[in-house]
Amino acid sequence: MRTVTGTGVTPLSGLGRVVWYTDELELGDPPEGIDPNLERERFEDARETAEADLESERERARERVGKEEAEVFGAHIQFLNDPQFAEGVENAISEGLPAEHAVREGFSSPIAQFEGMEGRMAERADDLRDVRDRLLRLLTGATGTELADLPEGTILLAERLTPSDTAKLDPDRVAGFATVLGGRTSHAAIFARSLGLPAVVGVGEVLHDISDGTELAVDGEAGEVIADPDEEIRKRAAATRDVEIRAEPVTTADGRGVEVAANLGTLGELAGARERGADGIGLFRTEFLFLDREAPPDEAEQYETYREALSAFPDGQVVVRTLDIGGDKPIPYLSLPESENPFLGERGIRRSLGDDSELFETQLRALLCAAADEGTLSVMFPLVSTVEELEAALEVVEEVASDLEAEGLSYELPELGVMIETPGAVFMATELASRVDFLSIGTNDLAQYVMAAARDDERVSGLHDPLHPPVLRAISRTVAAAHANDAWVGMCGEMAGDPDLTELLVGLGLDELSMSAVTIPEVKGRIVDIETSEAERTASQALDAATKDDINEIIDQ
Ligand code: PEP
Ligand code: MG
Repeated sequence: MRTVTGTGVTPLSGLGRVVWYTDELELGDPPEGIDPNLERERFEDARETAEADLESERERARERVGKEEAEVFGAHIQFLNDPQFAEGVENAISEGLPAEHAVREGFSSPIAQFEGMEGRMAERADDLRDVRDRLLRLLTGATGTELADLPEGTILLAERLTPSDTAKLDPDRVAGFATVLGGRTSHAAIFARSLGLPAVVGVGEVLHDISDGTELAVDGEAGEVIADPDEEIRKRAAATRDVEIRAEPVTTADGRGVEVAANLGTLGELAGARERGADGIGLFRTEFLFLDREAPPDEAEQYETYREALSAFPDGQVVVRTLDIGGDKPIPYLSLPESENPFLGERGIRRSLGDDSELFETQLRALLCAAADEGTLSVMFPLVSTVEELEAALEVVEEVASDLEAEGLSYELPELGVMIETPGAVFMATELASRVDFLSIGTNDLAQYVMAAARDDERVSGLHDPLHPPVLRAISRTVAAAHANDAWVGMCGEMAGDPDLTELLVGLGLDELSMSAVTIPEVKGRIVDIETSEAERTASQALDAATKDDINEIIDQ
């Protein structure tokens, strides 16, 4: 066995045989004496074909992956028609280059510009490469690996996968993929999650040591790629695909109900959440609705989106989080200020009460109107750290309600809640809980702020762990504050989706756990076996422990 590690993007494992992706797009030296007019024509033909192909891929992705995800192809069409690229290509052709070399030239500096940026903007470079390579394939006739037609049981290995590559993969044939480059929030990763494909990205150059035909396990949860796996790993990889789906809400063995909900960012993920037995949505990350487009969705579009989410869960609860922009989630057209410490700067509710107040009001109008329709809508605010922020947000809700009333529109006040993601919110949990219906603990941010360890910095990932005693004690304090104030309390950080922690979380008193849909069946399976009194004993021991290692030992036992 040989194990290499990267970033796991789906908590699923897959087992299969390696197929390396090749796209054969090497261009030789440009020939002499070309006819610029002919090359212009060739480029224009390729551009038109590329646009038509993108339109049909957008349609295909809408059906297979989801409406919002498919919009990445809309963005590709915009890139394709961007005058800046056309001008770059035209200049290169005028200087005597054939169309394919001119395309490579025309795209090189915009790609380099995006590569120099941070976070999601850097990932736009992948989109540009995707568009460039599409044009190059059309111009050179290079075919490469036929992604839509891979043999059953393929583990695809690639330098990087573009969104169009990933959208072509058939989950019935492809058992998973791993890439040399790429990050957790790249489109390839998002598509992989929507398609339920085991995937590990950003493994690095060592991935090239694994050759075609090798038997390989991809563990998207641990972020591991294991060549020639032993029997135990093969069994585990095979098992994650067939856990029992429980479509109804579950209770512990002694009858305590724990709601198990899904986290999602787009409507494309609704079907997967339902298929995996989600009781509702515990975290709708609405900022995803604002990505990969040129302007924010208006009130009507948002209203339709929230309604669609509600109609998918008529008997469950849908918790929508208001915009959480900033930090690692920039939105190009909102021109966020540069910040040395984006995680400590303007993000979440801070922007909604500041520069993005109009967007906030529009979103609340859409939400209040959607709340009047079928289903149960709840709305929560991200990154609150003071009571003043919550009160200001609640005031905006009231203003929006009275505007809707005055306009004679039908609306309803949803349940309102606060995300507990900052130490400030933990210390003020009593005061916050007394003003709302529920609290939802976001352990991804809570761990980063309690432990002073950035969630996206590999070097401090050992510290960014919710099993450190201070984080666990913060969770316990939050649960107690909520229950003392008749508020329910859920958890929607990644911690909630770890089946090995389900007993601990039930013992800590959480009423709801919300996670990415893939882990729902396993978490529900754990809940039905739990005796609350035993779980409470485990939790109380963990709360007394002084170190993360001690807590891990208690959980293992
Ligand atoms: C969290 O911080 O735990 C959370 C759920 O929010 P996000 O990951 O979107 O910041
Ligand atoms: Mg958060």
